[in-house]
Amino acid sequence: MLIPNMYYADLKDSYLFYHIAQKTNAYLKNHPDKHLYRMGIGDVSLPLCDAVIRALHEAVDDQANKSTFHGYMPECGASFLRETIADYYASKGVTVSADEVFVSSGASDELGDLLDLFDRKNTALVIEPAYPAYVDANVMAGRKMIHVSSGIENGFLPMPDDRLKAEILYICSPNNPTGAVFDKQKLQAWVDFANKNGSVILFDAAYEAFIEDETLPHSIFSLKGAKTCAIEICSLSKTAGFTGTRLGYTVIPKELVRNGMNLNEMWVRNRTTKTNGVSYIIQKGAAAVFTPEGQKQIKDNIQIYKNNARVLMEALDSIGIWYCGGKNAPYIWMKCPNHMGSWEFFDWLLEEIQVVGTPGEGFGACGEGYFRFSTFGSPEDTKEAARRLVALLKTTK
Ligand code: PLP
Repeated sequence: MLIPNMYYADLKDSYLFYHIAQKTNAYLKNHPDKHLYRMGIGDVSLPLCDAVIRALHEAVDDQANKSTFHGYMPECGASFLRETIADYYASKGVTVSADEVFVSSGASDELGDLLDLFDRKNTALVIEPAYPAYVDANVMAGRKMIHVSSGIENGFLPMPDDRLKAEILYICSPNNPTGAVFDKQKLQAWVDFANKNGSVILFDAAYEAFIEDETLPHSIFSLKGAKTCAIEICSLSKTAGFTGTRLGYTVIPKELVRNGMNLNEMWVRNRTTKTNGVSYIIQKGAAAVFTPEGQKQIKDNIQIYKNNARVLMEALDSIGIWYCGGKNAPYIWMKCPNHMGSWEFFDWLLEEIQVVGTPGEGFGACGEGYFRFSTFGSPEDTKEAARRLVALLKTTK
């Protein structure tokens, strides 16, 4: 009889978004006339920018003609896109070569697939609160995990500690869900820790485009020694509205070697075995993101989300609520008032002001007592949600 991967039985129910949907649906059933202000969504609300749409249309037309038609694409990515992305890194002062850039169908896919590079006997370290996929992908692989808690005392940016024994280190900066961003000095400490211990950092930079404080690192490769200990995973999902179009990229430096094995070469072997490349049309659309026109247009869209963040931050400031994030990330992580639990706060906001956010407890036990707002909603809804939040929270002071 076939034996399935029994580690799936160790997965905890991913109840967070299911539970939120259940509660909001039940509320709407009882109050069909009410509008909900959805500040919980991690999905974008603005469409693809014009430069991308034009490139996508042109690429579709290319596929209609024998002379411009493309069949299978190179497994690791089209060279036009790999080179464009390497140039984008250069514009940020980071040198990576095109063959260190791998085009993917998105960061989620890649975060799961990359685990193929590591032995199951390794231990993975996850800083919590965390994006839930890190934990589940390792549970599925039967890997031991260390959960490092973070909190207000360290600004949700914990530092490495020699007692932590793990070979795979997840770092997400700007962070989902807390919006906290590692500065160069703190991130350097993790890089040095990884090099000292022979670990590998999986650096999730899905939100790098939201950094506005230019002293903060967009890429881990702007730090000394990162090329011998890090893999960077990026995505156009939030940067350029590609959540439904799907494109990401990953940088694996050629200097990254463990136990005599070169991880860049291993990944080439993995991709050439397990994929047949990302669609030509989508890669053409993605390349348009990096043109001057595309960069201007995506920045205009990001600015709309940033204005939402500003509206929410001003609201929380006006009533003296502690939060982090928002300035360099599309998430705001607030402390629930009056020692409320995060689900209790969720229910209260839904019932009283029809504002829906995400309870922090869903991102790990240390998220209890906190609440995440996403800034990807519409400006109108965000303004009204902020107004309602202030009016409600004022009554509790
Ligand atoms: N990493 C983080 C931290 C995210 O928040 C998300 C999506 O919300 C992803 C990765 C997945 O991105 P993608 O849409 O490219 O799969």
